[in-house]
Amino acid sequence: MKQGFATRAIHAGQDPEGLTGAVTVPLFQTSTYAQTAVGQHKGFEYARTHNPTRLAWENNIAALEGGAQGVAFSSGMATLDSIMKLFARGDHIVASEDMYGGTFRLFDKVYRRFGLEFSYIDMTDPTRLADALQSSTKMVFTESPTNPMMSVIDIEAVAGLCKAHNALLVVDNTFMTPYLQRPLELGADIVMHSVTKYLGGHSDLVGGVAVTGSDELAEELKFVQNAAGAVPGPLDCWLCLRSSKTLALRMRQHDENARAVAEMCNEHPKIEKTLYPGLPSHPQHELARRQSSGFGGMISIELGSEERAHTFAERLKIFLLAESLGGVESLVNHPASMTHGSVPPETRRRLGISDGLIRLSVGIEDKADLLRDIEQALDAI
Ligand SMILES: *Cc1c(COP(=O)(O)O)cnc(C)c1O
Repeated sequence: MKQGFATRAIHAGQDPEGLTGAVTVPLFQTSTYAQTAVGQHKGFEYARTHNPTRLAWENNIAALEGGAQGVAFSSGMATLDSIMKLFARGDHIVASEDMYGGTFRLFDKVYRRFGLEFSYIDMTDPTRLADALQSSTKMVFTESPTNPMMSVIDIEAVAGLCKAHNALLVVDNTFMTPYLQRPLELGADIVMHSVTKYLGGHSDLVGGVAVTGSDELAEELKFVQNAAGAVPGPLDCWLCLRSSKTLALRMRQHDENARAVAEMCNEHPKIEKTLYPGLPSHPQHELARRQSSGFGGMISIELGSEERAHTFAERLKIFLLAESLGGVESLVNHPASMTHGSVPPETRRRLGISDGLIRLSVGIEDKADLLRDIEQALDAI
């Protein structure tokens, strides 16, 4: 029988070390490997190409996402950049219009210069996707839930359209992690992460990873990984293995705390709107229940004006005002001026990324302390 998630998180790719029996995978801090004769080696030649600590992390995350192989990179953006190198001039890509600002920047400011073409659509409506697909469409890209508007995309429906059209479906699963959502099982071809967020989970590293559904795609991506070389260092991979062991526990608590925070925000008279897929009032609540086993730790709230948003963010004491998300500590962010500053103002307005929008990354501190912190910050506005 297939082992459960927490068991795989702790053991997959992480057998005790052969020489001493150490229960943690050693940190192989090396750039090269000695050969006994020319071309005679143990499968490791040069550390851009192979590193045993990195390989253990890649095997671990592949087991958690239920994919063929993991391919690790030095950041979330380096992961997406390497995925983009699978395509060529003239290829068309359809992406969800609501997504991480840096993803939009990479598409619009870098890959458009290289002759790739992009369409941005409201991916919550699969008929829009059907209309946007062209004969040159090679990839469809989405997050779910989207960042920061927390819309939920029907991954299975999108995957069906992609298959019929021979386009690859790439899903950024950073917000959910494989503990809550496994896009490959819903028909995606590649799932990617900013490991910097929940998978790292302790706000102490920058990293990225992709897991492919097939060995063929993994080989293509590994070719780019080696050719372009945006690889993570062994210490970061070692930290990821350390973090993976508590992923199930952490995600359960992020989810529990965020549900409580979202319910409180939803009832509070000073908050105009609370965006969280776990609320029954969320437009895709039923879909979120169907395709994920929880709703995660990310919440966006609308406070009505930039001034109110700034006051709220600055008055919070436990929630730290910072970019990023997914760490054990709670963070607050003002998307319009921080994470989504690179999205053009008209696009921000159309998507609802208003100057009064605040994004919360709910950590795993005591729930009562987080609720009190929000209450006292709201009192100030
Ligand atoms: C942070 C983030 C990224 C970028 O990852 P880095 O590790 O910062 O390069 C991509 N997608 C999402 C959803 C993110 O939150």
